[in-house]
Amino acid sequence: MSGSHPMRKPTEDPEAKTRLRTLERLEAACRTRGRRLTRQRRAVLRALFAAGGALTAYELLERLRVADGRSTPAGVYRALEFWMTAGVVHRLESTRSFILCEHPEAPHPGQLLICRECGQVLETEDKGVEAAANRLGERLGFELDRHPVELTGVCRPCRAHGRSAEPGRLPDI
Ligand SMILES: [Zn+2]
Ligand SMILES: [Zn+2]
Repeated sequence: MSGSHPMRKPTEDPEAKTRLRTLERLEAACRTRGRRLTRQRRAVLRALFAAGGALTAYELLERLRVADGRSTPAGVYRALEFWMTAGVVHRLESTRSFILCEHPEAPHPGQLLICRECGQVLETEDKGVEAAANRLGERLGFELDRHPVELTGVCRPCRAHGRSAEPGRLPDI
């Protein structure tokens, strides 16, 4: 036994393969809808995919500049706007960062669980949460934005390493 936690290469990870196919489908869909898959749009999408997590616009720009010195902040923002409008990228308001949508084929509000310790973002879709938010909006005469709900806390792996939520933030039960 060489170790209990063997590292899998990304190419051998079936989940990564599926996501790569999704990415390729998105790029193809972008072209068939008559939208131009510009160099910058493609680069932003690929960089977010490679990151496997959330990146700020500045972090994105830094990564893009390694490959292409012509990348500009305005160009990165325009590309992010494009992908957000297409429902492919979500903006995390709480951390001012951007993340690739986990299931971009269908429009969805969904929920994003953000780990305060490691920055991992888990995207999920709980119909109960969505329904509750809609009821609340209706009751208070509030038309809700179609953005994912952001919930912060500590993820399972971090909790296993002894990091827990700040006691002051836990609700009294
Ligand atoms: Zn999503
Ligand atoms: Zn974590």
